[in-house]
Amino acid sequence: MQQVAIIGAGPAGLMAAYRLVKNKVKGVLVIDYGNEPSKRKCPLEVTSVCTKCNPCKILTGVGGAGLISAGRLNLRPDIGGDLEALTGSNKKAWNLIKEVDNFFLKFGASRKVYGDRPEVKFLERKSAAAGIKFIPIRQRFIGSDNSVKVISNIYNYLREKGVKFLLKTKVLEIKKQNKQYLLETTNGKIKTKFLVIAPGRYGANWLSHQAEKLGLEKKFEPIDVGVRVEVPALVMDPVTEVSLDPKFHIYSRTYDDFTRTFCVNERGFVVKEVYDELILVNGHAMYEKKSENTNFAFLVRVKLTEPVENTTAFGRQIAKQANILGGGKPIIQKLGDLERGRRSTWKRIKSNHVKPTLTDVTPGDLALVLPHRILTDILEGLNMLDKVISGINSASTLLYAPEVKFSAHRIVTNKNLEAAENLFVAGDGAGVSRGIVTAGATGLIAAEGVIEKLGRG
Ligand SMILES: Cc1cc2nc3c(=O)[nH]c(=O)nc-3n(C[C@H](O)[C@H](O)[C@H](O)COP(=O)(O)OP(=O)(O)OC[C@H]3O[C@@H](n4cnc5c(N)ncnc54)[C@H](O)[C@@H]3O)c2cc1C
Repeated sequence: MQQVAIIGAGPAGLMAAYRLVKNKVKGVLVIDYGNEPSKRKCPLEVTSVCTKCNPCKILTGVGGAGLISAGRLNLRPDIGGDLEALTGSNKKAWNLIKEVDNFFLKFGASRKVYGDRPEVKFLERKSAAAGIKFIPIRQRFIGSDNSVKVISNIYNYLREKGVKFLLKTKVLEIKKQNKQYLLETTNGKIKTKFLVIAPGRYGANWLSHQAEKLGLEKKFEPIDVGVRVEVPALVMDPVTEVSLDPKFHIYSRTYDDFTRTFCVNERGFVVKEVYDELILVNGHAMYEKKSENTNFAFLVRVKLTEPVENTTAFGRQIAKQANILGGGKPIIQKLGDLERGRRSTWKRIKSNHVKPTLTDVTPGDLALVLPHRILTDILEGLNMLDKVISGINSASTLLYAPEVKFSAHRIVTNKNLEAAENLFVAGDGAGVSRGIVTAGATGLIAAEGVIEKLGRG
């Protein structure tokens, strides 16, 4: 029997394992559906002309989703989650950020920090004048092409410290048996005393079903739906030179909806994010390989109330609609075409000034994909953003869809992220984070919870 089994080897699962072995906890097993770091060839495949590499397992394997892709570390407790609300302490929240940062530095992340230049103040002022809030933030960048090395260092260290990894193994069912948990996996059954579930966005739906079966309480969180915007890097340079992943928060004029930039990839690539039944878009940037463009997600926050609170179903429906209209591929449209009420065609995309970095897409019409309210928020938001980043709202700007951020089901827990006796959750899949650093921090919190209980005997 295992002492502690961790489902998911993303940042949350890896940091939970790290904290456990640091506290000399024995019998730690990490189970992941994907492969070991050196066998994850995804980031370089899923870039511009990916017609044959599908389905790429960008979301699964040691390192999880984001580490192996862009690997941008946002060093703030209120970005990608709310660690202060989770821990009930501002000091503890910042300590967790520091600990996650030190973790990545220890395993080879670059020491260079972005976002603490004096020009940040100017950007804040310019944004305020346009009715936009710019969020100053310190960032570190691992980079897709450096990430395999960093993750391999983490993987090797944990194994040296006695952590066992069971890879290419999917956990199918979680059952409670007396005071233990029984995991039915594609590689047989595993018994464990403590369980940390950190399945990321890939496993969010699965976790939600398991939670129902185990009788765990869950609630729906707002969902972020929108597009990936791609512009010439030159347009974004004045901002990305100041802040690597600039975060602008906007309230749209017509609907007063919260709309934001997210995951900015300077000279990066738009990529496909492949799920079992859906294809979404995302973006990544690499340390060495650069494109001519910069891309970012432009997302509208949607909260539903009665009679339907299920934001996940809502987001899936939009993504499904986009996939149907795109013939199983993401849709691309020129902003100018969208504004003129016509679909884009390959002819128009090919003659466009901005060349797409993802070409395994279908030129189409986002007006048929996104609800009017979301589309209005996006168009108004881009218009406002143009006052800070001149050129964003150009006719040649490319929009890709569907971009949906699904960390929608929040598993209800105590402050140690314990949802049922000896069952802990962490990371994006449990709705307690939305980014690498916060996911890692929740892994630390869950592990501390396990350690606290072990200490009590
Ligand atoms: C392309 C892309 C770029 C991103 N860029 C950034 C960025 O620059 N900065 C940032 O902060 N965030 C970024 N993110 C978000 C970031 O990836 C996540 O917030 C973070 O990885 C969440 O960590 P996690 O440990 O909760 O889950 P994940 O990293 O998703 O890991 C979960 C793991 O669980 C495994 N798993 C799931 N279900 C099962 C099961 N049933 N059995 C066994 N294993 C299972 C999966 O294989 C996966 O490896 C990006 C995401 C993507 C997709």
